[in-house]
Amino acid sequence: MTSTKQVSKNGILTSVTALKGVGAQLAKKLEKLGIYTLQDMLFHLPRQYADRTRVTPIGSLQPNQSVVIEAEVRGTDVVFGKRRSLICRVQDNTGTLSLRFYHFSNAQRATLATGARIRCYGETRRGASGLELYHPEYQLLSSNAAHSGLEETLTPIYPITEGITQNRLRTLIKQALTHAKDFDFRGYLALLPADTPEESAPAISLPNSLFEPLAYLHAPPKNADLAQLLAGEHPYQQVLIMEELTAYQLNLLRLREQRQQQAAVPLAVDKALEDQFIQALGFTLTNAQQRVVEDISQDLRLSIPMMRLLQGDVGSGKTVVAALAALHAIAHQQQVVIMAPTEILAEQHRLNFEKWFSPLGICVGSLTGKQKVKERREQLAALEQGVTQVVIGTHALFQDSVVFNRLALVIIDEQHRFGVHQRLSLRNKGNKHTGIPHQLIMTATPIPRTLAMSAYADLDYSVIDELPKGRIPVETVIISQQKRPEIIQRIDYACQQGRQAYWVCTLIENSEALEAQAAEEAATLLASTLPNLTVGLVHGRLKPPEKEQVMAQFKAGEIDLLVATTVIEVGVDVPNASLMIIENPERLGLAQLHQLRGRVGRGSIASHCVLLYGDKVSLNGKERLKAMRSTSDGFKIAEVDLQLRGPGEVLGTRQTGDIDFALADLRRDLYLMPKVNAYAQAIITHFPEHIAPLSERWLGKNTHYAQA
Ligand code: ADP
Ligand code: MG
Repeated sequence: MTSTKQVSKNGILTSVTALKGVGAQLAKKLEKLGIYTLQDMLFHLPRQYADRTRVTPIGSLQPNQSVVIEAEVRGTDVVFGKRRSLICRVQDNTGTLSLRFYHFSNAQRATLATGARIRCYGETRRGASGLELYHPEYQLLSSNAAHSGLEETLTPIYPITEGITQNRLRTLIKQALTHAKDFDFRGYLALLPADTPEESAPAISLPNSLFEPLAYLHAPPKNADLAQLLAGEHPYQQVLIMEELTAYQLNLLRLREQRQQQAAVPLAVDKALEDQFIQALGFTLTNAQQRVVEDISQDLRLSIPMMRLLQGDVGSGKTVVAALAALHAIAHQQQVVIMAPTEILAEQHRLNFEKWFSPLGICVGSLTGKQKVKERREQLAALEQGVTQVVIGTHALFQDSVVFNRLALVIIDEQHRFGVHQRLSLRNKGNKHTGIPHQLIMTATPIPRTLAMSAYADLDYSVIDELPKGRIPVETVIISQQKRPEIIQRIDYACQQGRQAYWVCTLIENSEALEAQAAEEAATLLASTLPNLTVGLVHGRLKPPEKEQVMAQFKAGEIDLLVATTVIEVGVDVPNASLMIIENPERLGLAQLHQLRGRVGRGSIASHCVLLYGDKVSLNGKERLKAMRSTSDGFKIAEVDLQLRGPGEVLGTRQTGDIDFALADLRRDLYLMPKVNAYAQAIITHFPEHIAPLSERWLGKNTHYAQA
C-alpha cells in the first residue's frame, strides 16, 4: 500500500477499503459477510470465544471446551477406522489426550515425533479414544518456552467465509477499533426519554457510547466471565442485543408504514351478498369467526393494502373466513387468488368454494401442477380475461404465465409452507393501475404472541380462538410400540363401527423415498392383519392424481384405514375419521403433531389419537409427548415447542432462517420483546431521526428480506 488511507472523523460509514491491507479483492470477500463499512466491521460480532490466555491441564478438560493445552508427544500413528486418520497421543503431568487429524502430511507426522513438546489450540470432543482434539492448531515449543506467547485477551471467534481467516478478521477488526474511538457511537437506547414505561426500563445500565461494549466484546480481558459471554448474558452483549432487536422491530414497523403509503382498491362489504352466502352455509359462524371477518372487512374498506395474518387452530374454520373475505372482492368485480400448499388441499378448497360460490353465480377456477396443457391454457385465458373470479391453486400460480385481469385480494393458506419471495411474486401480479392487492395470510401454526410480536410486527393479526360448537376434543394417549397388537384391534373395532382411521408413518431423515417405503411396508402389514378392512396408502411419492384419488376414496368412505406419511398433515378434512395412530411421534415437532392430530376430531364424534412411541425416546421426547396429551390448545403446544425446539421449528420458512441476527437469538432473547416493543415505540415518537442510523447499523444486509 502506498497511499496513507484516511478515515474521516465521524467515519462509521467509511468503506472498509480505508483499512490497511484491504484492497478490492478482500473487500469483495468481506461483502459476503455483509461488511461494507467500518461500522459493519465493528458490528460483526463474535459468536464464540476461546480462552487462549492460559493453559488448561489435560486432567481437568471437559468435552466441547475451547482450550489451550501444552503437552509432550507420546506417540503418533496412522489408524484405519471409518476414515484414515493420524492420531497423536500427548501427555502432561495431569493426563493424556489424543489429537486427531484426517488430513495430514508425512512431514507433519514427522514433526509430531515422540518427545516433542507442543502447544495446541482446539475444541475438545468425545472421540473413539476418549477426549480428543480434532485438527487442533498447534505449535512446537522449545524446551524453555514455558507459557510465553499466550494471548492477552480472550480470543473472539467470528462468522467467517471462504478466503477470510479468523486471524485476518481479528487483525482488521483491531484496526477498525483504533479508528472507532472517535466515532459517534451513541447507544441510541441510552437516549430513551425518561417517560419510557417503567416496566420496560432496562435491567442494565446503558453506556453512552457503544465503543466500550464493542471494544470489550471484540477482545474480552483475561479475567472476563467466559461462561457468561458464551451464554450471551454479559451486560455489554445485552445492550447490543436490545439494540439489535429494537432496530429489527423498527424496520418491520417502517415496512408497515411504507405499505400504508401504497394504494389498493377499497372493497367495502356487500351485506346482501354476504348474508346470502351465510344463509346457505348450514351452520352459524362462531363468535371468533365473526370477529375476524369484521377485522378483515375493516381493512378491506380502506384504500391501503390489507396485510393481515389470520391464526386459527386446526379445525377452527379458516376456510369460511377466506370465502367471506373473497366475497368483498367479488362484489367489486375484482379477482381473488387462493394459494394452497398442496394439490390435495387446493382440490379440497376448490370443491368447497364451488359448493359455496356456484349457487351465487361466482366463477371458480383452479391452477395446479397436475393440469393438462389444454386445461391450463383455458384456465389462464379465463383468468386473464377476467371471467374467473376466484382462482385456487398451488405453486403453479407463481409462474409468470399467470396473468390476472384485476387481482385485488391474495389469500395464502398455511402460510408457513411458502417463502417470502413467493408471496412477493403474487403481490406483483396486482393491477398496476388500481394498486397492489390486499393480502390475507392464514396459518394453523399458533404462533406465541411474543414471537408474533417480533417476527410479524409488520403485519396485523387476528386469531380465531374458538372451535365450532359441538366439537369434542381429541383424546390423546401415549402408548409403547410393544402394544401394537392391541392398537390394531382398536382400529378394527372403530372401523367395524363405521368409523375411519389414519395410520401415520414418520421418519427421522427428510427422505420422501424412505418415508414412502416405510408407509408401504406398514400398509402391507396392516392389510394382512386386518383382512376385513380396506386399507389405503398415500405418500409423497405418488403422482398427484393418484394421491388425489386415494384421498377422494377415503373421503367417500371407501377406504377404512388410510396409511399415510406426513403428507396428510395440512388441512385435509374427513369428519368421519375418528382415530389416528402416529408411529414414532417423537420424531416430529409438536406443532406438526398438533397439525396431524387435527385431522381427527373434525366431526361430532369422540376421537382418539394414539402416539405409538419407539423404544429410544429421550427424556425431552417424553416431555414433548406428554405436552401433546395434556392439551389440545395449539398455543400452549407452540409455547412448549418453542422452549424445546426453538423458533425455527415453530415458524418454518420465513423468519429465523431469513433473519440473520448478529447477536440476538430469538429463542434465548424472546423475553426481551415486550421491552423491545416499548423502546421501538418510544424511538418512533421521540427520536424518529435515529431510526435510519439504527437500521443501517444492524440491518444493512437484512433489509431486503422483508419487503413483502
Ligand atoms: P381450518 O381452520 O383447519 O382450515 P376448516 O376451514 O377446514 O378448518 O373447517 C373445518 C370444518 O369445520 C369444516 O368442515 C367446516 O365446514 C367446518 N366449520 C367451519 N366453521 C364452522 C362453524 N362455525 N360451525 C360448524 N362447522 C364449521
Ligand atoms: Mg385449513
